Amino acid sequence: MNPVHPMRPGSYVLSSGFGQRANPVTGVQEGHLGVDFAAAVGTPFYAVADGVVVEGGERADVDGFGRWVWIDCQASVGRDLIYGHGDPLVCAGDAVKAGDLVGTVNTHGQSTGPHLHFETWTAPGRLGGRAVDPLPWLAAAGEPVSTGGKSMKPDYVELDRMGESASSRHGAQVENFLLHTQEGDGTAESLANYLNNPANGVSYHYTVRDGVVVDVVDTDLASWSVLDANSFTINLCFAGSRVSWSREDWLRIRDDIRIAAWLAVQDARKYGFSTNVIRPPYRRGPGISDHRYVTECLGIGTHTDVGAGFPWDVFAADVADFTHSTTIEEDGMPSAEEIAKAVWAHRPAKPDGRTDATAGEMLAWTDQHAGHTLDQLAGPGTKDDPSRDLDPTRWDFLADLSVPEALGVLGQRLGIEGFRDPRKGVSKG
Ligand SMILES: [Zn+2]
Ligand SMILES: [Zn+2]
Repeated sequence: MNPVHPMRPGSYVLSSGFGQRANPVTGVQEGHLGVDFAAAVGTPFYAVADGVVVEGGERADVDGFGRWVWIDCQASVGRDLIYGHGDPLVCAGDAVKAGDLVGTVNTHGQSTGPHLHFETWTAPGRLGGRAVDPLPWLAAAGEPVSTGGKSMKPDYVELDRMGESASSRHGAQVENFLLHTQEGDGTAESLANYLNNPANGVSYHYTVRDGVVVDVVDTDLASWSVLDANSFTINLCFAGSRVSWSREDWLRIRDDIRIAAWLAVQDARKYGFSTNVIRPPYRRGPGISDHRYVTECLGIGTHTDVGAGFPWDVFAADVADFTHSTTIEEDGMPSAEEIAKAVWAHRPAKPDGRTDATAGEMLAWTDQHAGHTLDQLAGPGTKDDPSRDLDPTRWDFLADLSVPEALGVLGQRLGIEGFRDPRKGVSKG
């Protein structure tokens, strides 16, 4: 069989090849037994071929790798695969198909930054075999997309039990998909029955348990889940779940978590909001999150579900898998647009009290502030004198040099290789 690539196109940069190199941490020359794909923390990686997991999430102390996924694919392609430094989403004994999600990128172990270290070993495998360069082998590899495996729609039964416990959205746009716990022992259907009694005053769009999805409220309408946030949210409740659940408890309903991710992605597409997973520590914005986000980030209500044990990494990887997104946005990392808006919102008030701005005004304001930083390097007043045409004024206490120029002079005097006095124009050699 042909292998598929361990990562999606555009989700990584090849940062180190196979063979002899200096160890990036110790500086010692050694053989590099794999290749490195640099990528953001949380970027999914996939099984390259059909196989069986030898070691995965159950081990957390793999020398040098921190954590790894080791897959025996001798039967399908005659190789063992090693995925280093990441967060495994499979465990020893799991059978995987080519293209299955097996983990996400991190920087565990001996690593200078987030990347996937990927090795391939010939027969008989990681023990006794030989590490070979994966790149020639992967040159013909396809994309790790749905192969009949996990990237496809998960199996579930969907029941239509839409009732009266709903309100108009009053024209609000849907911005968030939110997860909830039940704090009870119901099934998807028994919880739906309870919600469908309007006298109980609570409802969700979906209840989910054991591969059953019950539609309780039409997503064009608001459910009664999150008080003032109802109008712009879609709400899903894991029937039988509790806010006190540990990660282990949640992983027992691994399949339901994946179903929730699938429903969230479908609704994000339908209503045009972001599939960004907003997890603790939260950051306000459109995307997929939980009830505690509404409490902590929007300041509405007091509920804390789904709770601290929820496996956000697993859920976010599922969401990324269904969106085929190349990276998962880092937690708390605002977009350039959000930074620009925040900067503008915190500028000194205009004398005329205006709050709008033209692009020209924003650029001028940025220039005014960045200008102070440039002055430190180039000398004072560079930007204030148009006749200089951006030529730095330099500093009189640095012998009329800019800071970089002064560094060159100092470096040359100290005999540092490559430093030179820029006033002389050429290197003294
Ligand atoms: Zn490496
Ligand atoms: Zn809730």
